[in-house]
Amino acid sequence: MICLGIESTAHTFGCGIVDEHCNILANEKKSFTSKYTGIKPAEVSDFHYKNSINVIKTALEKASLKIEDIDLISFSQGPGIGQCLKVGSTTARFLALKFNKPIIGVNHCVAHIEIGIKLCKCKDPIAVYVSGANTQIIGFESKYYRVYGETIDIGIGNLLDSFGRYINIGFPAGPLLDKMYFEAEKYIELPYSVKGMDLVFSGLLTAARNKIGECKKEDLSYSLLHNAFAMIAEVSERALSHTGKKEILLTGGVAASNALQDILKKMCKQRGAELKVTPKEVATDNGAMIAWLGILEYSAGKRMKIEETKINPKYRTDHVKVIWR
Ligand code: MG
Repeated sequence: MICLGIESTAHTFGCGIVDEHCNILANEKKSFTSKYTGIKPAEVSDFHYKNSINVIKTALEKASLKIEDIDLISFSQGPGIGQCLKVGSTTARFLALKFNKPIIGVNHCVAHIEIGIKLCKCKDPIAVYVSGANTQIIGFESKYYRVYGETIDIGIGNLLDSFGRYINIGFPAGPLLDKMYFEAEKYIELPYSVKGMDLVFSGLLTAARNKIGECKKEDLSYSLLHNAFAMIAEVSERALSHTGKKEILLTGGVAASNALQDILKKMCKQRGAELKVTPKEVATDNGAMIAWLGILEYSAGKRMKIEETKINPKYRTDHVKVIWR
């Protein structure tokens, strides 16, 4: 079985082609970037419309397949930015109807977890899903991916990008902030907010913003990342402790941060747990993960009528019944 998966929840339009063994035959994408601003929904959805056909065409070419060879179409149904999701769902519905293919709308967060589990050969991990809009500590339990802890305001990537904009380093800011993390000389006092198992980042952002100009930007970036990532590590550690699970699966766009990997590695070592990091090409938003979850769900018997394939911008990780496990 071959599935073509379409991703368009935020700044990336992606098309992945995957077979039933999770061989990735193609994984094409175009990501919106900007020197001065973050994501403006109308601007980014225009970007997706412009790039959608070419991204899909290139993916089919790379896989040496024609659309007729595809057995299943899947797409990100949510969560995400409505205007962006709409581009992916419209494209997927068009392809399904025009070429008479089955269609499955999947949950973007669960797709991040499943491709990570498959490619990192995890058994039963605590997933640390860190991206622009999402920050969740997740574990599988009784047919659902339970969210043990999550941000209750902004996503970790949003924190990094907003701060990056205040110090004029463009979007996305993660890679440059990560570089500065390792060049810093001292820690600047900033807030640290863990509420039970949940995380709060906006106070940290405001406090760091207020200190711009008062200290070296490397030191300030280091301190911001240090607190934010230590907060994530604290909640992840408690999730390991309470569930008895022995692996951390790091996934999402911010998984590429060496600073975050360092902190989680230290925590895992102390607990006798293992840190597994999803490979970058499939950790950031991409179509292959959407195609893979499409295959898992379809193979487990899930079917969707076209009228059930409307977007769901607030689609939660823990609302998906996991019928394939
Ligand atoms: Mg994502």
